[in-house]
Amino acid sequence: MQLLDGKATALSIRQNLAVDVERLKKIHGRAPHLAVVLVGDDPASQVYVRNKERGCAEAGITSSAHRIGADVTQSSLEALVRELSANDEIDGILVQAPLPRHLDLLAVQSLVDPDKDVDGFHPVNVGKLCIGLPCLMPCTPAGVMELLKHYDISCAGKKAVVIGRSNIVGKPMALLLARAEPMANATVTICHSRTPDLVGECRSADILVAAIGRPKFVTREMVKPGAVVVDVGINRTEQGLCGDVDFEAVKDLASAITPVPGGIGPMTIAMLLANTVKAYTWRMER
Ligand code: NAD
Repeated sequence: MQLLDGKATALSIRQNLAVDVERLKKIHGRAPHLAVVLVGDDPASQVYVRNKERGCAEAGITSSAHRIGADVTQSSLEALVRELSANDEIDGILVQAPLPRHLDLLAVQSLVDPDKDVDGFHPVNVGKLCIGLPCLMPCTPAGVMELLKHYDISCAGKKAVVIGRSNIVGKPMALLLARAEPMANATVTICHSRTPDLVGECRSADILVAAIGRPKFVTREMVKPGAVVVDVGINRTEQGLCGDVDFEAVKDLASAITPVPGGIGPMTIAMLLANTVKAYTWRMER
């Protein structure tokens, strides 16, 4: 079994990015700048934002965090995002999810300039991804593809099953796996909470991606011997952090598997940094 080490892979991506940023700063006269909007005091979001800030600092990317109280109104939040979008010194913007219940996340995300949408959630970027145009791609699925590529695991001609149909992971993951690209070209099935024979579907997968949000949901009986298993899940349990896959039960069956932590989580941050540099480069060179 090959352990797909997202932590080490992300580190090497980040080191390469730092070299690129150093070079680009000399050409363009300033560093790329990521603005992060954090509303409220959700503890997990605070950890994510701190990790993103640290990642930026290490790659030589400027970051500014806009921390706002949970009682902010929709119109004030929208005004901030409009302002950041119009600011020529800012290259990337992300609005940390989840937002407090009274706020409309999609409405806010739709106000991010699509060229600065480093999360890849703006409807314009979702549409571009869907029809195969160059765009800023959602970080988690892009991180999965990058990790598979790093380990020279081609999806071409393989059957991939994605469990989960969310807008941020499941759906874009399926699109990326099915793209007409040399390492993609998979035949993809999307499974979700209403899939009748989930075990059977999963057992048919050469590449199984779990993005459900339920600890150890993927059991041994759901994995075909020799499958590549990618665990996107991050679940906080009393025993600590764990994924959507029962790693211990599945690891000797899989040909390759991602751990949690140290799998897709670090790859997601690396892709966010890469998207920020990409957005900056596009803006500087257009
Ligand atoms: P979500 O809640 O939006 O979507 C979960 C999906 O799982 C849904 O589409 C649902 O249909 C499906 N599902 C739920 N119960 C099911 C069942 N019993 N059988 C089959 N399908 C079922 O979650 P999300 O935002 O896509 O996140 C999924 C997981 O990935 C979470 O654990 C989240 O924390 C994690 N995540 C990790 C990263 C990362 O960087 N590694 C990034 C984003 C999300």
